Amino acid sequence: MKLDQIPVRQVKGVSAQKEGELHAFGVHTVADLLDYFPFRYEDYRLRDLTEVKDGEKVTVQGHIRSLPAVARFGRGKARMSCKVEIDHFLVTAVWFNRAFLQDQLVLGREITLTGKWDANRHQLTVSESEFPDRGKSRSGSLQPVYSVGGSLTQPFMRKAIGQALIQFGDLIEDSLPPQLISKHRLIPRQEAVMRIHHPEGAAEGQGARRRLVYEELFWFQLKLQAYRSLLRTRSDGMAFPIDSAVIRDFAARLPFELTDSQKKVVNEITQDMRQKHGMNRLLQGDVGSGKTVVAAIALYAAAKAGHQGALMVPTEILAEQHLRSLQRLFDGTGVEVGLLTGSVTARKRRDILAGLQMGMIDIAIGTHALIQDDVIFRSLGLVVTDEQHRFGVNQRSVLRRKGLSPDVLTMTATPIPRTLAITAFGDMDVSTLRERPKGRKPIKTHWTKPSAMDRVFEFIQREADQGRQAYVICPLIEESEKLDVQNAIDMHATIAMSLPKLKVGLLHGRMTTAEKDEAMRAFGANETQVLVATTVVEVGVDVPNATLIVIIDAERFGLSQLHQLRGRVGRGEHQSHCILVADPKSETGRERMKVMTETDDGFEVARKDLELRGPGDFFGTKQSGVPEFKLADMVADFETLEEAREDAAELTSEPDFWTASAYADLRQRLLKDPLFQGEQID
Ligand code: ADP
Ligand code: MG
Repeated sequence: MKLDQIPVRQVKGVSAQKEGELHAFGVHTVADLLDYFPFRYEDYRLRDLTEVKDGEKVTVQGHIRSLPAVARFGRGKARMSCKVEIDHFLVTAVWFNRAFLQDQLVLGREITLTGKWDANRHQLTVSESEFPDRGKSRSGSLQPVYSVGGSLTQPFMRKAIGQALIQFGDLIEDSLPPQLISKHRLIPRQEAVMRIHHPEGAAEGQGARRRLVYEELFWFQLKLQAYRSLLRTRSDGMAFPIDSAVIRDFAARLPFELTDSQKKVVNEITQDMRQKHGMNRLLQGDVGSGKTVVAAIALYAAAKAGHQGALMVPTEILAEQHLRSLQRLFDGTGVEVGLLTGSVTARKRRDILAGLQMGMIDIAIGTHALIQDDVIFRSLGLVVTDEQHRFGVNQRSVLRRKGLSPDVLTMTATPIPRTLAITAFGDMDVSTLRERPKGRKPIKTHWTKPSAMDRVFEFIQREADQGRQAYVICPLIEESEKLDVQNAIDMHATIAMSLPKLKVGLLHGRMTTAEKDEAMRAFGANETQVLVATTVVEVGVDVPNATLIVIIDAERFGLSQLHQLRGRVGRGEHQSHCILVADPKSETGRERMKVMTETDDGFEVARKDLELRGPGDFFGTKQSGVPEFKLADMVADFETLEEAREDAAELTSEPDFWTASAYADLRQRLLKDPLFQGEQID
């Protein structure tokens, strides 16, 4: 019998009702229960009171030296205290609302106390107490602490898992390849699982954790690498016959020369597109590094090779902007571009759908709906997604079900350290734009208190006097879009009043698409000099004449978001500025402002952000496609992640990985993963 085939109900003490609650926690089988690892330990190891700091939680053992005194107050509330001798010290032990223990506090009896130590009053506020003469005891151990809720209490989880180990511990198998176990000197899985739940000491817990973290990261890596190797053996991708001369000619028509970074990345992408296997590539580059033109070249190459492309973006504003810039870039080349968003009229939409189906339109730009719905391409060869979370496995399979297997290029402006990206997105190839176009001056960032708004307004006026433009960003208050919008409207009125010579535009989420377009267009054409906006402008908007961005209540934004916003300026030849208006209450808030004023390198900002927020928040799990690990931490366990990646790569590159019987178990396990659903192997 395999553990993952035994329902959790088989564990003694797990009732039908508890089983239901366990299901809600994702625990269905005994295997799931045993893999329900503690996220920390409660330390009940006995300590010497002289080493304990004031306010610390501690477990100690001693003898009762006075009869308990009970003081009752309020409704059934009681404070009970007695003297306990611990290592020749006399300590006052205090219980709240535990008067029922009174009879058990007998003079001379040995007692174990866990609680908070008050060094000044020589007093211990007891949270748990035990009597060693009663036999079994927690004291002296590290007790696992599980994530619990509902009627699943900590004691229940501890008992259920303890019981599962007793009943089924013998069935725990080692599924890692033996050569890896010996290479990394890992302890056997059975031992690791036992110890992670019941470590005798910290060192033991560490050994168990090391084994299980490695295992978790190895499976993750093996899955990605195997998927990638599978795609590479496939020849179901589009092999674009791309002529280098076509690309050179196109590049020569651009109003600027490509940066070395852009050239390198264009090469990587077109090389990939020429191959028969499907491309799955991540293009990361700082805001303003020129990702759009790279995407345009790839789309152009696809069109010239006789296929179609789609550019997916998160917002309509961005879709319209891309439409304009691609139309400009493709002007006179014969490459046709069509826009598909929610606000395209029914008639126009019909035309575009027909154009895509017949192949008269080469490139479709739009939001996510673009690749789903009733949209039919004559020959979709390349999908580019911009500034969005990555193009998930699900969407890929939606396409495959439509009989399509386009190359995929995902662009992101939240760069993560390259090594981390390669490791985290093991199923993708990574291209990075490191440099910004020549002649760009670094954006100067200033941090000022809200009381200095008058000077901020003067700054805006000065920029406008020189013909430049400014954004003023009001924060998004999650709980209330209405408040947000009101903020923006108020700010708009204030600025219009303070700077009567300027035309001030307004852009927020409650406006209709037509109104938003008009506001963006007017700002783009310098008909308005100031644009007061909520974060709708965060991603991708490109108005090179804007040289100032003022961010109100900047402490409400995360680092990466601030950096994105700042990237709206510094897009032309003029010196640009970013003013953060903030009076942060928290230490991390101040830290964020400091980071922003010290660097405008997106990679550096991302590194700091990762450090300040931790990987869970930073990657936002589901959105980014990075899984939540049970035990592992992508940043803290980075070295292990890297080792696991190398091991998995080595294994999957063995020529007989998909056939050797030695790997049958590994493959079996892989095929159960949703990533491989619908894939044919062998
Ligand atoms: P992002 O990477 O943030 O999407 P964009 O693609 O919007 O950046 O490019 C920012 C600006 O830089 C645009 O105005 C674009 O036309 C311009 N640009 C892109 N590449 C170059 C280059 N090699 N030289 C000069 N300007 C460039
Ligand atoms: Mg962009």
